[in-house]
Amino acid sequence: MRETPTVMTPSTSAARIAIVTGGIGGIGTEICMRLAETGRQVIAVDLATRGERIEAFREQVASYHGAIRFEPCDVSDFKACGGLVEHIERNIGPAAILVNAAGITRDTSLRKMDPQQWHELMRVNLDGVFNMCRHVVEGMTTRSFGRIVNLSSVNGQTGQFGQTNYSAAKAGVHGFSMALARETARKGVTVNTVSPGYCDTPMVAAVPHEIRQQIIADIPVGRLGTPADIARAVVFLTADDASYITGANLPVNGGYFMSF
Ligand code: NAD
Repeated sequence: MRETPTVMTPSTSAARIAIVTGGIGGIGTEICMRLAETGRQVIAVDLATRGERIEAFREQVASYHGAIRFEPCDVSDFKACGGLVEHIERNIGPAAILVNAAGITRDTSLRKMDPQQWHELMRVNLDGVFNMCRHVVEGMTTRSFGRIVNLSSVNGQTGQFGQTNYSAAKAGVHGFSMALARETARKGVTVNTVSPGYCDTPMVAAVPHEIRQQIIADIPVGRLGTPADIARAVVFLTADDASYITGANLPVNGGYFMSF
């Protein structure tokens, strides 16, 4: 499975290669930038179809002078994920960090949900995590180092009206993380979940105004989270010395659980 890198092997642990799926999204972009600031070589992975956003992203990260690059891949496609990882490991270097932040919503109450809305979401939010982890994990365990962080959601823990599909997938993400964490715990690879609360990103901007106001009123800190709040947790869990934290879920939600 592992290819010997032919072009570059990181010479310091800081230069480890980090793959961030959903890397051009609201939270993903911030994660890419924060990881690059800690010296990581970052590969932002996202859909090739997002032409305009890809261009804007390239401009946004231009000042990182090549420390962040874009690679297209649909994480719901198992074979494509394999090709992506092989390409990265052959041409850039071994994947040391994987952050699964690609995600979609297909909200509607269960009464109205059709199988397509269920399956489309599962293919990205849950299969995507499997597809990427499956292709990086063997190399990581062989090299005795890996940091995997999967993005779940507060709604995977509390459930949310109109989100049976999303809540099921996000709860599944943490179950997956715990199981994989057990499989890799003695091999230098940690697997953790970060569960963002409601963040000020396009995903939450799409929520109707009155519901947004109610959500904010229920957050003890009194504001929506920011992508930077989430990226901080990811940087923490992917640090070289974060080796004793695995199988954990880190909720980053402004104290939201205290409201219950
Ligand atoms: P976003 O919509 O801004 O970004 C998600 C990214 O995933 C997009 O760039 C999109 O193009 C990409 N993507 C979608 N399908 C893909 C596929 N098949 N292959 C590759 N990439 C794909 O959303 P965000 O707010 O940045 O959310 C990031 C993660 O955090 C998601 O997993 C989301 O479920 C989770 N989350 C977000 C919030 C929030 O408030 N924004 C709260 C809890 C959890």
